[in-house]
Amino acid sequence: MAEDRIPGFATLAIHAGAQPDPTTKARITPIYQTASYVFDDVDHAAALFGLQAFGNIYTRIMNPTNAVLEERVATLEGGTAALAVASGHAAQLLVFHALMQPGDRFVASKRLYGGSINQFGNAFKSFGWEVDWADPDEIGSFERAIGPKTKAIFIESIANPGGIVTDIAAISAIAKRAGVPLIVDNTLASPYLCKPFQHGADVVVHSLTKFLGGHGNSIGGIIVDGGTFDWSREGRYPMLAEPRPEYGGIKLHETFGNFAFAIACRVLGLRDLGPALAPMNAFLILTGIETLPLRMQRHSDNARAVAEFLADHPAVSWVSYAGLPGDRYHGLMQRYAPKGAGAVLTFGLKGGYDAGVKLVSSVRLFSHLANLGDTRSLVIHPASTTHRQLTEAQRAAAGAGGDTVRLSVGIEDKEDIIADLQQALEGL
Ligand SMILES: *Cc1c(COP(=O)(O)O)cnc(C)c1O
Repeated sequence: MAEDRIPGFATLAIHAGAQPDPTTKARITPIYQTASYVFDDVDHAAALFGLQAFGNIYTRIMNPTNAVLEERVATLEGGTAALAVASGHAAQLLVFHALMQPGDRFVASKRLYGGSINQFGNAFKSFGWEVDWADPDEIGSFERAIGPKTKAIFIESIANPGGIVTDIAAISAIAKRAGVPLIVDNTLASPYLCKPFQHGADVVVHSLTKFLGGHGNSIGGIIVDGGTFDWSREGRYPMLAEPRPEYGGIKLHETFGNFAFAIACRVLGLRDLGPALAPMNAFLILTGIETLPLRMQRHSDNARAVAEFLADHPAVSWVSYAGLPGDRYHGLMQRYAPKGAGAVLTFGLKGGYDAGVKLVSSVRLFSHLANLGDTRSLVIHPASTTHRQLTEAQRAAAGAGGDTVRLSVGIEDKEDIIADLQQALEGL
């Protein structure tokens, strides 16, 4: 590539972070299937352990295959650095581990992936971290939820399963006034459709399991550091701003500047909590990312065709998809995800809960399962599966009432996808 050209997204999706292997000349990034790495000598080992030199020590903390994945996603998002981990949930855990002390709080959208609602509302409680829920349809609720102990705001760019688009810039303004970072889960949009850092996010997280990997074959997560936040202000983030005894008293923010957050997640969170990504999974996800722009455009175009078909069907009471011109989130979509609204949409069945159960039993091309972002078309009835553990009120707030069906529209021929839904709806 010519040095003076900034490559486009499709080029970066294939090349960013990767070079032919210097030792073997292998063109594709190899799977570095090793647990540890040999030190040059005792001084080299000491420098690595003291964070005075960058280099590989042990695959729980870093791995060359994972490093290519990290650089690629950081580049696609426009961040300064990234950390790949074992799952999307592990990414969220490590983000909050770097920010929170027992007794601290954070504000989160109540329209999140069901697993995140469980993680924040239940699992995090045992660390002494409390969540205050806010409503992305009422931006002021974020401001009102902020208190003296608030350490972060967490939202999704496009939220699952409601298909809503969040006003990232408006919530970023609230985060900036409060002096806390805005963390955006960009899983449903992917950096092809939406770039949260351009709208004021400070940290981006992904479930790599979904569109970035894209083929439903591996679990992974990633944290991307935007390099924008001042972690040293007012002593609010001691993990980043205060001397670390385990690293000879260095201060991570002072030492690592605009990629200190990614470093903190790696050398404190990943090292000590341990959810490392297997290099085999990093390899599969890297291969998936090469076709991300092609897949995301096709997912979005197919989903829009499916949404139009459903909106006209007599058994369907409503369709929620920001890609439809009449949708309440269409204006926000044009601002934040103008190339398309992604693969995921929800719709309501006039026959309610029972019709939802019947529909997921009658589809043939669609797979009935709890995942999204696969090349295959997927369907789920959240009330009887993913959102079963939530209360009725939480389900309604998350856009997953009894009549609601969620689709992750695949990249098959759209005529086949629509024909399958047609036959399943006729059977109701
Ligand atoms: C799946 C998902 C997660 C959790 O990711 P895992 O890889 O399953 O741990 C988080 N956020 C969103 C939006 C998701 O779809």
